[in-house]
Amino acid sequence: MRLFAAVLPPAEQLAELGHVTDLLHRLPGADRLRWTSRPAWHLTLAFMGEVDEELLPELRVRLARAAHRTPPFPLRLHGGGHFGRRALWTGVAGDLDELRLLAERADAAARRAGVAMEEHRRYQAHLTLARARTDETDLRPFLDELHAFEGGRWQVAELTLVRSRLPVSGVPGEQPRYETLDAWPLEGAGGGRSAGAGGGAAGRAG
Ligand code: ATP
Ligand code: MG
Repeated sequence: MRLFAAVLPPAEQLAELGHVTDLLHRLPGADRLRWTSRPAWHLTLAFMGEVDEELLPELRVRLARAAHRTPPFPLRLHGGGHFGRRALWTGVAGDLDELRLLAERADAAARRAGVAMEEHRRYQAHLTLARARTDETDLRPFLDELHAFEGGRWQVAELTLVRSRLPVSGVPGEQPRYETLDAWPLEGAGGGRSAGAGGGAAGRAG
């Protein structure tokens, strides 16, 4: 099955982003983009791809441990960006160091559970909003609109394991694309970065 680890923003933050994307949908060229569906909005931490079901028990144990080691941390949706000429996304601000650590731990958890992970590129936290069908779509108006977007802060409190079902071509009345398989609370045990050096993480956050 196709799996990834993610952070799911809470309903309030998703609603804020919904307001912004309502504006984006009205911009010229919006109909040339394929917009991601709101219930599917997520921040990928680690993409695993096809995972043998036999690996799942060990993967769960390892991901639980990754969550256990990571303290809850503040995050907010912020601004926008693009990958190439096709993918439009909103970014995040807040405790990005802790977010990156959580992403690395999720990646390591999958590797140790036996998942054949790709070599990771530099982690760039993002929530994909739309994908262009061609390279000719001008993303600038959308990026301009997203530029000023500042979502409300929340405390990331869970690591989520998500199953992705790729769309079956020619089937319009489709099943949900993403399904939460499991989620583990962030617990901040074990002397991670934030536990050391006099509470610096709280000072930097946000
Ligand atoms: P589709 O591929 O049909 O456009 P999708 O990208 O939403 O849909 P998946 O391909 O299953 O669905 O990907 C799930 C999540 O993992 C998405 O957030 C996607 O951007 C991310 N992802 C997919 N492939 C990779 C990869 N090779 N490296 C990092 N992240 C990835
Ligand atoms: Mg994909």
